[in-house]
Formats: sequence, C-alpha cells, structure tokens
Amino acid sequence: MTRKNMLDQKKHCRSVDVLIVGGGLIGSSLVCALSAAMGAQNLSVLLVEAGPARQGNRIKTGSDRDARSTALSFGSSQILERMGLWHKLKGCAAPIYEIAVSDQGRFGSTRLTCREYDLDALGYVVENKALQSALYEGVQAHKNVNVLNETRVTQVVPCADGMNVQLEKAHQNIQRIQVGLVVLAEGGQSQIATGLGIKGREVDYNQNAIIANIMTERSQCGVAFERFTESGPIALLPLPSIGGKHRSSLVWTVSSAAAAEMANWEELRLIEELQQNIGQRLGSIKSFGKRNIYPLSLSVPQEQIRPSLVLLGNAAHTVHPVAGQGLNLSLRDIEELVSCIDQGLEKDLRINEFSILQKYVTKRDYDQNQVINFTHSLVETFSSSSFFKAFPRKLGLLTLDLFPALRQELVMRASGKR
Ligand SMILES: Cc1cc2nc3c(=O)[nH]c(=O)nc-3n(C[C@H](O)[C@H](O)[C@H](O)COP(=O)(O)OP(=O)(O)OC[C@H]3O[C@@H](n4cnc5c(N)ncnc54)[C@H](O)[C@@H]3O)c2cc1C
Repeated sequence: MTRKNMLDQKKHCRSVDVLIVGGGLIGSSLVCALSAAMGAQNLSVLLVEAGPARQGNRIKTGSDRDARSTALSFGSSQILERMGLWHKLKGCAAPIYEIAVSDQGRFGSTRLTCREYDLDALGYVVENKALQSALYEGVQAHKNVNVLNETRVTQVVPCADGMNVQLEKAHQNIQRIQVGLVVLAEGGQSQIATGLGIKGREVDYNQNAIIANIMTERSQCGVAFERFTESGPIALLPLPSIGGKHRSSLVWTVSSAAAAEMANWEELRLIEELQQNIGQRLGSIKSFGKRNIYPLSLSVPQEQIRPSLVLLGNAAHTVHPVAGQGLNLSLRDIEELVSCIDQGLEKDLRINEFSILQKYVTKRDYDQNQVINFTHSLVETFSSSSFFKAFPRKLGLLTLDLFPALRQELVMRASGKR
C-alpha cells in the first residue's frame, strides 16, 4: 500500500460532498475532471474501489488486470487534454488516420480518412494500462480526494440531506458516511442501482469479444480495420511498435458458444483462423499473445438520476464495442456533468440540488440515444447471415461510398465531433 493510500484510509471522513462507487476508467476520469474544474475542485471527494490499490504505475496484484486497448475519438483526446492528462498519453498513443471497413465474402468496402475531413487524426489507440496509469496519477494529484481500496459500497439509502452510504472492507467494521452526491461508476449491471429498484433494458447479444495484442509482419500504418464476417465483426487497431515488432489490438467478436471453444485453442489454430478471416492485409500473423474474453450485452437503465444519485459509465449505458464508443460517450458525459456541477456551484446551489442532475441528463439525452441506437443497429445489421439482413448490410457499405453525407456522419461519430 502506498503512503498516500495509508493516509487516505486513516483520515477518511464521516461526510463528503461526492462519493464515487468504482475506481475504473470512469470513476477515475470523473475525479480528474472534478480536479480540473474551477469550482468543483473544492468539493470533497471519496473514491471507493473494490479492487486492490496500485503501486506506482502497477496494480499490486499484477499489471495486466485490463489487457484491452481503447480507440479514443479525436474529441476524447481533447477532453483528456482539458483534464490535464493528454500530454501523459500522447507519446504512447497510436494515431488512426484511416478506417477501412469491409465485409468478408461480399462486394463492398469503404475507407474513411482524416484528410477528407480536415482532422489531424480520426482518433488514437491507447492501451488501457497506459490510460489507467495516467488516470491514477491524475487522481493522486487531486487535493481533495480520498481513495479507499479493497472496500465495497454495500448500501446506498436516501436521507434528508443526500444519501447514507455503507462501506465494507474485509475484517473491518462497517462504516457509514453521509454523502451529498453518490456517483455509481461500478460498471455494467450495477448492483447498487438494482438494489435501489432501478430497472432497465437488457439485451444479451450472445456474443463474446476475444481480445489480444497480436504481432504481424506488416505495420497497420495508422489504418484501423473493421471487418464484418459471418461470425461477427473483427476490429484491428494500430498499436505503437515495440523493438521493431508491429503490434495490433484485436477485438474479435464471436458467438458465446464459439468463444467457449476458442478459449481452449492452441495459438497456431487461432492464428490460422484469424488469418483466414482478415486475409493478407498485414502479412502473416506472427503471434496471437494472451487472450481475454468479454461477454457482450446492451444495458440501459430506465433512470440515470435520482435526488443525490447519478449513474455514469457502463452503469449508465453498456454498449457493444463494435464501434468503440462506450468510453468515448462516457467521457462526454463526465465533462457535461462536471460543467453542470460547476455552473450550479457558481449560482450557490448545493451539490445535492436535483436541478443540477436534471440539467445534466437533459443535455446528454440526445448524444446517448444516438450512440446506443447507432451501435445496436450496427450489431443487428452486421451480425446476421440471413439474406434479408445481409442485403442491407451490403447496401450499407455501398451507400456509405455513394453518399458523402453518410460518410460524414460516420466520421464525425468516430472522431467524437457528434
Ligand atoms: C472488448 C471491449 C473493447 C472496448 N473498446 C472500446 C473502445 O475502443 N473505445 C471505447 O470508447 N470504449 C470501448 N469499450 C468500452 C469501455 O471499456 C467501457 O466503457 C469502460 O471500461 C467502462 O468503465 P467503467 O469504469 O464504467 O466500468 P468498469 O471498468 O467495470 O469499472 C467499475 C469499477 O467499479 C468497481 N466496483 C464495482 N462494484 C463496486 C462496489 N460495490 N464498491 C466499490 N467498487 C466497486 C470495480 O471493481 C471496477 O473497478 C470496450 C469495451 C469492451 C468490453
């Protein structure tokens, strides 16, 4: 445990302005955004994370807890810049200059380039480990935050002035804290939200994403590939080369049954199968690397806010990773939430004033619905091999090339400008 974490654990207070449940990418990003805001930086913040503390840039129990990479939109890189974090990430981020979308075994492919739209890059790929490290440093730099690790929030109960929150740490007494605003950033299918009776729309795609950092003969040269196959979409994102070795971040979507089988395949068999699906665009695949498997679903709660409560990140909307939108959408949510809090504080409103949260959801409603519907329809259209669904799929790729306005829409969404 670091000295700061020990001190944090000793001096935790009985009442705080903001309590964040979950120190994943979203909970940590919120702390950094609060820290960079004019008025909100003065709020006392408690970040409660069930997992272990990090030591320096490493998580105590191993640095590979999350082996994924994230495609950050151009807009997200600007948000991270405003949080004071982008300079830490820029050096290890691989720019995406082009996105090549293709459909295996069918006529039709399209390329979207940053030049066409006068952007420096459509986005950047960063390894989640690097993102977590930058966020960790950002959290440590916030003067008004306490961090509790290996601690779970087990109960959130409304009270006169906000919420009464119950915390549990193994072999220690239960603690109760009075909170002005509770932020649920505890990931998908939030147990606290369920406990509060918040219901939602759940779609199990019956698909899993196989994640790996593969090595290839040729470099992606800033081109991200999205290939739609009979079994599901395959995304190959460029990663910076290491020691002259070309690396790509693979997100390979397959049915849950196929994923269960593939989890036991030898590396050679995985390489052969992947090579068959993506062809020779990157030359031969040299290694597959460690694989991680994630179940995929859509989860959208009916309520994102209640007095003194707001849901963020996967707790607010878990979307399929096909279009790389989940974190990007949440970063835009975070920036808006902090801006609404700041404006409220400027008008002398208290942090538990419900109008702050009402303003936030009203402002975010359109973007969230657009991303959720766009991603869900992409999965529906491209996941099917039936003639009736494959036909619009083929048309989709053709129309994209024929109608500049549609291409513009896709690029703007990919770059985070819409
Ligand atoms: C395969 C894959 C690829 C993806 N690629 C992209 C991409 O390219 N671009 C993009 O924008 N998005 C992408 N995403 C989405 C992105 O990863 C998510 O939006 C993001 O990880 C959500 O983070 P979170 O902090 O909300 O949840 P989580 O990462 O699940 O974090 C929740 C945290 O809360 C803690 N916790 C849970 N319950 C409690 C409790 N009761 N008390 C205390 N702590 C608790 C957990 O320990 C955890 O650390 C991808 C997702 C997947 C699955």
